[in-house]
Amino acid sequence: MTDVSRPTGEDKPEIIILGAGPAGLAAAYALTGQAKVTVIERAPIAGGNSASFPVEGVICDYGSHRFHPAAEPEVLQDVKTLLGDDLLLRPRHGRIRLGGKWIHFPLKLTDALMRLPKPFALSLIGDMVLKPFRKKNSGPETFSTVLYDGLGPTISDNFYFPYVRKLWGLDPDKLAVKLAERRVGSGSVGKILMKMLRLLPGLRSETAGRFFYPRKGFGQISDAMQESARASGAEFLFNTEITAIDQQDNRITGLTIRDAEGERHLTGDLILSTIPLTGLTRLIDAPPPEVVEAARAIRFRGMILLYLILETDQFTEFDAHYFPELSIPISRMSEPKNYNASGEPKGMTVLCAELPCDPDEKWWSMSDEELGQEFTKWLGQLGLPVTVPVRRCETRRLSHAYPVYDIGYEARFETVDQWLSDMDGLLVFGRQGLFAHDNTHHAFAMAYGAADCINGKGQVDRAKWNKYREVFATHVVED
Ligand SMILES: Cc1cc2nc3c(=O)[nH]c(=O)nc-3n(C[C@H](O)[C@H](O)[C@H](O)COP(=O)(O)OP(=O)(O)OC[C@H]3O[C@@H](n4cnc5c(N)ncnc54)[C@H](O)[C@@H]3O)c2cc1C
Repeated sequence: MTDVSRPTGEDKPEIIILGAGPAGLAAAYALTGQAKVTVIERAPIAGGNSASFPVEGVICDYGSHRFHPAAEPEVLQDVKTLLGDDLLLRPRHGRIRLGGKWIHFPLKLTDALMRLPKPFALSLIGDMVLKPFRKKNSGPETFSTVLYDGLGPTISDNFYFPYVRKLWGLDPDKLAVKLAERRVGSGSVGKILMKMLRLLPGLRSETAGRFFYPRKGFGQISDAMQESARASGAEFLFNTEITAIDQQDNRITGLTIRDAEGERHLTGDLILSTIPLTGLTRLIDAPPPEVVEAARAIRFRGMILLYLILETDQFTEFDAHYFPELSIPISRMSEPKNYNASGEPKGMTVLCAELPCDPDEKWWSMSDEELGQEFTKWLGQLGLPVTVPVRRCETRRLSHAYPVYDIGYEARFETVDQWLSDMDGLLVFGRQGLFAHDNTHHAFAMAYGAADCINGKGQVDRAKWNKYREVFATHVVED
């Protein structure tokens, strides 16, 4: 794209960023010195799925969010510099329900030995001892065969399989191997034990079993990045819809946006897109039929976040509870006040439940009150009865919580990705853009990589970008 209206003497390239989630914000932050940056966001605030907001004075996130010490050094250093003393290093203090018992999460060796039901622990040891003799899957690989081969039946059947069924709404044999690569960092029982050993005093690094969390909620990271980018000249357009992106001969020529004042046309040297690749494809003028079809078949999993407001200082001492069992539809529950340990406000706490579901499932159309009643019922079934006054329940719905790596998704993704990658004047990245099941620090790393590939004229070094893409493909999700 060439901006004919650019004033003479202005030699910085003009870059338009779609989406003000962590990926878009980090790109704006990294590029403002070298480019004139405009960020287009349909929501009223920045932060995407990593934003925070108050619920009755309690700062809440879109489900449990932690900033992981595994972040790339450059990313971590920037977040530390941006937040200063507001970035807390907190001990992880969660619980997981396995075999009807509560076990500390992340797993701790002594706790697991003492609390795991004996038959479960024996069967785990049996899986480890018998691994070399276990018959390996000889058919096509899926998430389920890779986990069975690596971890054995006990942990697969009791933890991973029901958990992924709940998260993705699909059986594990309908999910691709990629999910295991992205999601299961410890591919054998031996590796899980090594991870537990690394948490023992004396063997522990400064950050093992800990996470970074901002004093004012996870969204403070995005807010700080936005402020810094804005101070350096980036322009942010919120509540703004993209209505069309024009292309001619595989070259982006401009885009149309609509806000409260109406529609207008923008041009620039480069568009960086972090919005879902499916929506992006629909916005660009006339994709070929095979791209339209592939994009239509790519799925994201939705999620309802339930915020139950309780009139008490604290409900539990734990940051998060994990529920692999299928009898409870929620996958995780967090108590936001326990993340920054502020204890504020007094006399009030919030429980946040993550309910993975799609818009065609019954939960999606239920009222907040009905969902609050269900949540309270599930807590009772889990042995966590709510005995304090409930003020009310409010909810948020995410349409793009997780990419769905179902069997055959790679071919569909590649068809769309290739078409978008061949488009001059466009670079796509971020969790939604690259259909990547990853963390916030990965979204930042992608943005920094993108900034590193753009020259002073707003052109992209595609060969360099392809090298970065190979690195992004090795990202593993931290839970
Ligand atoms: C339940 C849950 C828990 C998580 N926990 C953690 C955690 O503990 N630690 C961690 O590091 N990560 C966690 N993550 C992942 C983290 O939220 C994402 O990695 C991160 O938000 C990705 O940033 P992004 O900018 O790529 O995408 P997003 O955050 O999705 O941002 C995309 C932005 O694009 C905007 N957009 C979409 N369509 C349009 C459009 N047509 N026009 C304009 N704007 C548009 C959206 O409104 C949004 O602001 C979690 C995610 C979920 C769902």
